[in-house]
Amino acid sequence: MAAARRFVILGGGTAGWMAAALIAHRCGDHPVSVTLVESPEIGIIGVGEGSTPQLKVFFDELGIAECDWMPAAHATYKTGIRFAGWSDAAGFESYFHPFQSVLDGHTAPGFFFHTRARRTGRDVPAHPDRFFLAARLAQARLGPIPAENFPFEIGYGYHFDAVLLGQFLAGHATTRLGVEHVQRRVAGARRNEAGDIAALVLEGGDEEIAGDFFIDASGFRASLIGEALGEPFESFAGNLFNNAAIALPGARDEGATSCETVSTALSCGWTWRIPLTGRTGNGYVYASDFISADAAETELRRHLGLLDADVPARHLAMQVGQVRRSWVGNCLAIGLAQGFIEPLEATALHIVHATLAGWIDALLADNFGPAHRASFNTAIHARYEGIRDYIVCHYRMNRREGEYWRANGTNDHLSDNLKAVMTCWFQGGELDAEVVKLGIDRYYAPLSWHCLFAGYGQFPDAARLRQPEPGLPLTDMAWVDRFIAGCAMNFPAHDDLLARLKEA
Ligand SMILES: Cc1cc2nc3c(=O)[nH]c(=O)nc-3n(C[C@H](O)[C@H](O)[C@H](O)COP(=O)(O)OP(=O)(O)OC[C@H]3O[C@@H](n4cnc5c(N)ncnc54)[C@H](O)[C@@H]3O)c2cc1C
Repeated sequence: MAAARRFVILGGGTAGWMAAALIAHRCGDHPVSVTLVESPEIGIIGVGEGSTPQLKVFFDELGIAECDWMPAAHATYKTGIRFAGWSDAAGFESYFHPFQSVLDGHTAPGFFFHTRARRTGRDVPAHPDRFFLAARLAQARLGPIPAENFPFEIGYGYHFDAVLLGQFLAGHATTRLGVEHVQRRVAGARRNEAGDIAALVLEGGDEEIAGDFFIDASGFRASLIGEALGEPFESFAGNLFNNAAIALPGARDEGATSCETVSTALSCGWTWRIPLTGRTGNGYVYASDFISADAAETELRRHLGLLDADVPARHLAMQVGQVRRSWVGNCLAIGLAQGFIEPLEATALHIVHATLAGWIDALLADNFGPAHRASFNTAIHARYEGIRDYIVCHYRMNRREGEYWRANGTNDHLSDNLKAVMTCWFQGGELDAEVVKLGIDRYYAPLSWHCLFAGYGQFPDAARLRQPEPGLPLTDMAWVDRFIAGCAMNFPAHDDLLARLKEA
């Protein structure tokens, strides 16, 4: 990176502070300045409490240990997501979508084989929960870091308080990495003759913050990429109907701390249940075309047993889709300004980190030309669509009663890739090969797709299944049970892991 650069970030939500910390850290050997501008009056969205394993990659890259940030953000470990009530198939009322581990290599091939055998009419066990260690850890409330004498790492993510995480990152970026923090409202952007952004104009009009490169982390407002640069927003409203959410925090659950997010289907969407060390995060993601905000709040309160409780609920509008190009001229959009897919798989911060990491790689390699920018944008665009398709499939597979669920179950606004995956599953094809052939395994691996279809019980009716023919190379389920149980013995109680963090 030859020239000195001034980086200006608009927005102090999780995305903005992630950008500030990562740019300052990775460009620390170069003469750069990083300034973050945010308006306390506007505030942050303050939700978003679950991650994928990518958040661990982010903290590892910054060299920040779990014992430093997790207690500060009231964080817990997460081994995956349980989907409850999404399917009415007997025996498939809930299933667990695990984060993957190297140990899955011992059980996934058998799982894939069994799901295909069942799809093609054999009565064999094919519920995902029985095959994966992460599901067992969640069920037994064990934490995902094994004893030292068990040298296998398993993938895990986190649950955390979004406000506290932002505060931790802000403290780290400003005190350790020299990021300048300006608390002012931005009125707009001044552009130069080339059309690039030259400066942010502060409210009042007489002060500016000039820069060489601008990060738009201004949330759903998309003040730079959308308002100033006019990059079009591509809505996913035809694919995904949910456009609103209610957040309603609750007391911490009694007993051992869970390490799974629970997503439960309700009448017009789903609720999240996220265990933190100090409280439980709850919310309802729903489609306002099918239920009013008041009715949704009542349904959520009833579901949580908080009908008469004096706990205020926060109502949020969601804009689901993505900007056509994330990187335009000297501006990179991240976070909600860049795009948003409803939070069913908690992917937003994953995309923030992936976007930033790729962009910083290009910066450090002086790879800032139009050709690289175009391929970068194409890759991000495809990533959003790949994640969207996996989320859409959750809705398309449902057979629940009610107008909302029927509309989702019959929605034919599907991408060609999703149609191909569905066709492969229902025609008894090799799903793992199909996912790889379509190139969508980089968003969700074959294991995730198998868990989704099998977790819904998308098999022929039980009455139509036949005994498997002799000689079919089925997996010995007693061995699978022993393998999972034996592996699980090496993992400590989740609460013990959390306690260790505080002592470290
Ligand atoms: C219901 C819901 C659930 C979610 N769950 C998850 C989840 O489980 N996992 C996950 O990864 N993500 C989740 N997300 C997404 C997650 O909340 C966001 O990706 C994350 O919080 C980052 O937001 P942000 O920083 O882009 O925007 P914001 O938090 O909205 O921050 C925007 C910033 O821009 C500033 N700003 C805007 N305009 C101006 C201006 N003119 N002048 C000065 N400052 C300005 C604001 O003050 C603020 O600091 C969820 C989102 C929703 C809506």
